[in-house]
Order: sequence, then C-alpha cells, then structure tokens
Amino acid sequence: MIEREQLEMDVIFVGAGPANLAAALHLKYEIKEHNELVSKGIRSGNVIDDLEIGIIEKGPAVGAHILSGAVMDPIAIRELMPDFLEQGCPVDSVVTDDAFWFLTEDSRIKAPITPPPLVNKGKYIISLSKMCEWLAEKCEEAEINIFPEFPGSELLYDDEDRVIGVRTGDKGIDKDGKPKANFEPGVDLLAKVTVLGEGSRGSLAKQAMKRLGLDENAEPQVFSLGVKELWEVPAGNIEEGMVIHTLGFPSDAKTYGGGWIYGMKGNIVSIGYVTGLDYIDPMIDPHAEFQKFKTHPAVEEVLKGGKMIKYGAKTINAGGYHTMPQIYADGLLLVGDCASFLNGQRIKGIHTAMKSGMLAAETIVSAFDHQDFSSYTLKHFHEKFESSWIYDELHAVRNFHAAFQKGRWSALLNSGFQFLSGGAGWGFLDKLHHEAGHKRYKKLSEFDYHGDDLAQRYPDLKFDKQLTFDKPTSVFFAAVAHDEDQPSHLHILDTDICATRCAEEFGNPCQRFCPAAVYEMEHSEKTGRREIKVNFSNCVHCKTCDIADPYQIINWVTPEGGGGPNYKGM
Ligand code: SF4
Repeated sequence: MIEREQLEMDVIFVGAGPANLAAALHLKYEIKEHNELVSKGIRSGNVIDDLEIGIIEKGPAVGAHILSGAVMDPIAIRELMPDFLEQGCPVDSVVTDDAFWFLTEDSRIKAPITPPPLVNKGKYIISLSKMCEWLAEKCEEAEINIFPEFPGSELLYDDEDRVIGVRTGDKGIDKDGKPKANFEPGVDLLAKVTVLGEGSRGSLAKQAMKRLGLDENAEPQVFSLGVKELWEVPAGNIEEGMVIHTLGFPSDAKTYGGGWIYGMKGNIVSIGYVTGLDYIDPMIDPHAEFQKFKTHPAVEEVLKGGKMIKYGAKTINAGGYHTMPQIYADGLLLVGDCASFLNGQRIKGIHTAMKSGMLAAETIVSAFDHQDFSSYTLKHFHEKFESSWIYDELHAVRNFHAAFQKGRWSALLNSGFQFLSGGAGWGFLDKLHHEAGHKRYKKLSEFDYHGDDLAQRYPDLKFDKQLTFDKPTSVFFAAVAHDEDQPSHLHILDTDICATRCAEEFGNPCQRFCPAAVYEMEHSEKTGRREIKVNFSNCVHCKTCDIADPYQIINWVTPEGGGGPNYKGM
C-alpha cells in the first residue's frame, strides 16, 4: 500500500486549457465581486473566504500540450477581460479576409461568398498555446496555483460516489512497473469541487462518464482528428490575416474532412487538415490525407519555397449539442471540449470552452455561498448553459455533424435546410441520430484491399521531406519526449485481437489512424505471426487510438508528468 500525501484545496481544475484557465480566473473575479456586493448589502448571501484554487497540468509547462488552428472568436475573452488586448493577450493577427475553396483533384473553385459560419473577418488568428501561457500568467498573478507535470490519474470518490478530488500520477516507475530511485507517489488533491477541462476525450472524464453514467442519455460522441503544421514561407505567398477553409480533395465524398490555411505574422502559415473519425474505409490515414492535401496545386503554391517548422495532431469533439454528457455530478463539473462544447460547424471551440469555464465558475461561487457541493447546486451549471449564448450557438447547429454520416452532398443540402429551420434536420427532425465512429468501419473484404499496404489507398503519395513528410519525420517536429523507462501509457486490453481478428477484418487501422507512428505490426519469431508493437514514446497525446479502435480495446492513460509533445507556439 503506497502512502500518499493529501492536500486539501477548495477547487481543483484538471487541465490547463482555455476552459479551465478562464474558469479559474473568472472564479477569482466573481468571488471578489460577490463579497463586495454581499458586504454592501446589495446581494444576499455569505462572504466567501479566500479559496485555495489549483490547476494541474500533465505537460511540462502550460501550453506545451495545447494545439488548435486557431481563429478565435473574442466574445468570451471580452467578457472575461474587456481590456484583453491592453493587458497583452498575445493575438497573432486580425483576420482581414476570408476565402472558401472547393478542391477537386487538380483545380480549385473559389466560392463567390464565404459560407456565413466560416466568415471570420475581424476575429483573431492566435496560437492557442501562447494564449494559454498568457492566461496562466494572469492566473498566477491572481494567486491561483498551477502545477505543471501533474497528470490527473484518477478521480477520488467517497462512499456515496461523490467526487472528492483527484489523484495525480506516480513518478519514477520503471517499464516493468517497479519503483526507481526517484520514485514519488502521486498526491491526493482533495477538493470540494473538481473541474475537468482535459480537452477532447479526457481520460478522467471518460472514467467519470462510465462510473456515473453521465453520457447515458446523450448521442454517441463523434470526433475528428486535426493534423497541423506551421510553415515559414517566403514573403508574398499569403497575406497576414488571410483565412482560407477548404472542402473536397483529398477526402472522398463519404468522408468528413476539410482543410485550413491561415496567414500569420512573420510569414508563418498555419496549415492543417481535419478528418472525421467516423470514416468507413479502414485504410484511411488522416496524416496521409493531410500530406496529400498539401500536394494540391493551389495549396502547394502557398507553401512554395517555405519550410515546415512544427507538427502536431489533436482530436476534436465534433458531435455537438446532442452528444453533450451531463456536465455536473456531486463534486464535479465538466467544461470545454471534454464536455462537447465545440461548435463543429464553425470549427471553433475556444470561445465556447472559455465561456463554459466562466459559467462553471459562477456555479462554484453559488456552491460556496450555500456550502453545498452536491449536484443539487452544481446542476445550476446546466441551467446557466441553457440560458447563455453558447446554448443558442450550439443548439442552432445541433445536427450539423450527424448529417455528414450520410455523405458530403446530402450533408450540404441538409446543412442548408438546418440553416433555414433553426437547426432541425430533414423533415424537421429535432435530432438526427448517428453512430460512434469506431462502429462504422467496413471490413477490408468489402473493398478491393489485400493486406495493410498504405499504397493501396494512396498510390501516388510520396514523402519527399520537402512538402510531404512521413510520420517519424513529423513526430520529430512535434518535439515529443517521454522517459522510455516507464510503463506504456497505451493499454491494449487484448493483444491477441490485434494479431487475429483486427488484422484480418480491418488490417490494424491503428497503424494508420495514429498520426505519430506509435503502432506497428511486426513479425514475431516466437509466435510466428505479426504482433502489435507500441512505440509509446512517439505519442503526441491526440487520443485517436482511444477513440477510433474498432474493438475499443485501447485505453489511453496519462503517462508520467511532463512527457508528451511540445507545442509551444502552435
Ligand atoms: Fe494519438 Fe494514440 Fe497515436 Fe498517441 S498513440 S499519438 S494518442 S493515436
């Protein structure tokens, strides 16, 4: 039995992303305002003592594990901090122009009008990693404790299944699970309220949903994978402030996908491609889709003469309103992407994540005022959400992604109908049902594939290391680092399935959907068959494998604190 230190806090936030950083800061502001109003007799209630607030973060520093496109709608940051620009918020550029391209194999059709959801003029192109670093500084100025290199490994519950805090991961365990000389047991952080803002497919959120049944009444979540690079290009290739979104090539019409190209300061280009993780062809490789996207003549033109400087990949909760789990439980709140607050139609989640955090903060103030941390009080978070602008925004696009499971053309017609009907699908259906992505793969035998050779799907794709890169090269540009002498954080529950059923039925799609070459099938002398090999130290923490494995036998858990990609500046 390991002896663990216990630390008592009032509120603990898991994950230093935009939702939790905004939440913690807003909590500080709201308590101050609450106490002033109560002291002056303007508001009834009790003065709240100074709270002990902590944010734990698995990365080596705030921002290191943060990846997004990103164009930010400033609506939430303006509410949080009306003078955010004067206070030094590191926005990169103001969007000066928008374009929407439909790409065929070798040509580009520029839409005469940018679809309204993709109009971004006047909004901000940012590095979300830099923005989170800056928000963390603001939190520290407000005396909020931030603990980098502290992953949350499990939620702590009392006898009645109320969440009472979080256990952080142990440090210094070797690859065989034995303590090393530097062993440090994780700490039990006890809190009256625990807020999960872990991002897409949060590992504690996944545990909580299973144990507390938080997603029982929701549609199955669907995800996309965004693969991104930063490029430095010659002056004149693209204007600073230019925002381009694309549809079409290289995705086929049955697969949800689209690209982005943003012109940033200093001739830096943010370029990426999103592939829906509900594709049916198991031979699809989202990293290869992105590499192919760059070979389109119109896209290549933007990158011509430039060089890639950074790489990363991250999943996105694409399901929207109908896939939202219950966002509260006793002692627990869920904010941001792990609670599905992203607007898939606008491909934007920073403003909704921040606002969800701010509403959570207001709920926490009420909980401390009434000294009640049960779901009776915390359910006000849901009520606040329903009367906020996030609800209006998400409810109006509630069927957006579901429509794409019927294919691109039908979805575009359906989207037009949803625009006119206030979000209802064909036939004024309030809720279009959809399937979880991992259930949608068709077997290899239903295609003309033999074995798992990627060239069958991408016959012309070459990795020239100038414009296109293989996965090991990409991983190098994600600056990934994990101590190799630790247990793998990728738990495969039954490797026999990998060698038998999965190989035969789907050709081991983990080799393709992982954007970091973590999974390989290798011949084993011992068994005489191909066995799965897991290069866990390559992992960029995108969570795709946890989501997209057809048998749901891959469980992503937090590795030792500090390990993972370094997305500083992304
Ligand atoms: Fe993403 Fe899983 Fe690959 Fe890690 S192992 S990079 S989480 S798909």
